[in-house]
Amino acid sequence: MITSLQKLLTKSYKEKYAVGHFNVNNLEILQSVITACEKMKSPAIIATSEGAIKYAGHKEIFSIIKNLAEQTKIPFAIHLDHGQDFDVIKKSIQLGYTGIMIDGSHKPLEENIKITKKVVNLCQKKGISVEGELGTIGGAEDLVESRNIVLTDPKIAREFVEKTGVDCLAVAIGTSHGAYKFKENAKLDIERLQQINKSCKIPLVLHGASEVPQKYIQLIEKYGGKLEGVKGVPTLQLKKAIKNGIAKVNTDTDLRLAFTAGIREFLTKNKEDIDPRHLMNEAKKFIREMVEHRIKELGSSCKA
Ligand SMILES: [Zn+2]
Repeated sequence: MITSLQKLLTKSYKEKYAVGHFNVNNLEILQSVITACEKMKSPAIIATSEGAIKYAGHKEIFSIIKNLAEQTKIPFAIHLDHGQDFDVIKKSIQLGYTGIMIDGSHKPLEENIKITKKVVNLCQKKGISVEGELGTIGGAEDLVESRNIVLTDPKIAREFVEKTGVDCLAVAIGTSHGAYKFKENAKLDIERLQQINKSCKIPLVLHGASEVPQKYIQLIEKYGGKLEGVKGVPTLQLKKAIKNGIAKVNTDTDLRLAFTAGIREFLTKNKEDIDPRHLMNEAKKFIREMVEHRIKELGSSCKA
C-alpha cells in the first residue's frame, strides 16, 4: 500500500530505527525491492531521482511503482530524490508522490530557505511530506555533484527547520555520494549529529551512506570490472547514526553494485545465454539479497 513519508518517519524516528530509501529506475530493481520488503515485513521509501525520471519517463516509472506498491500490504512511500527542477517537482505532486525532496543545499542559505519553503507550501495542502537538505554531501550521484563539502551547522539547521517547515532534513556529517566515498575508513561526525538532532527534533536523513560491500567489488573485479579503492560506510557507524536521529537512510550505490555484480558473473559464466530474462533474474536475485541485508542493518524488519 502507499503511505505518506511522514507516517513512516514519525515511527522510525521515535523507535530509533531507519526506513530504507531505495532508488529505482526500472521494473526489475523495483520488483526486487518490493519482494525483499515483503519477505522482511519492512516498510520502505521507493525513490526516483531526476536522472531516473529522465531515463524511464516520469509518468511511466511512477505508474509502475504505484501499481506494484498498491498490490502489497507493506507500506511504501513514493519519493522524489534530490528535486531541483520545479517542473519535475510540480509534476511529481500532480502524479501522486507522497514525499518530495527539495535540494537547495548548493544555494546560499537564504535562497535555500526560500525555495524549500515554496515547496513546503505546495506540498502541505496535499498532505505530502518534504525533505530539505542543509550542508553539502560530497561525491557524485546522478545529476547531483558536489566537490566542496560543508558539514551541517546545528544552529543553522534549527533556523532552517523553523523557517521552512520541512518534515525531515538531510544532513551532511561526513558521508559522500557514489562508490568512491573515502580514501581511508569513513568517519561520521556523530557529535555534530547529536547536536543537530537536539536542536531540530525532526527525523534526519542520511545520504551517501551505502556500505559498498566488498563481496560485490570482488565479484565485479573478478569478472572484468575495475573499481579500485572503493569504500563505504561501515555498519557500526551507520548504527550509531541511527541511534542519534537518522530515521531515513538512502541507498543507491549498493543497488548498482549488486545489480552489476550479478550481471557480470552471469554473463561470464554463461557465455552462450542471450536471454535478457536470465541475466535480469540474476541481477534481481542480487538486489533482493542486498535489500534484505540493508533492512536488517537499518532495523526496519517487522516494522510494516
Ligand atoms: Zn543523495
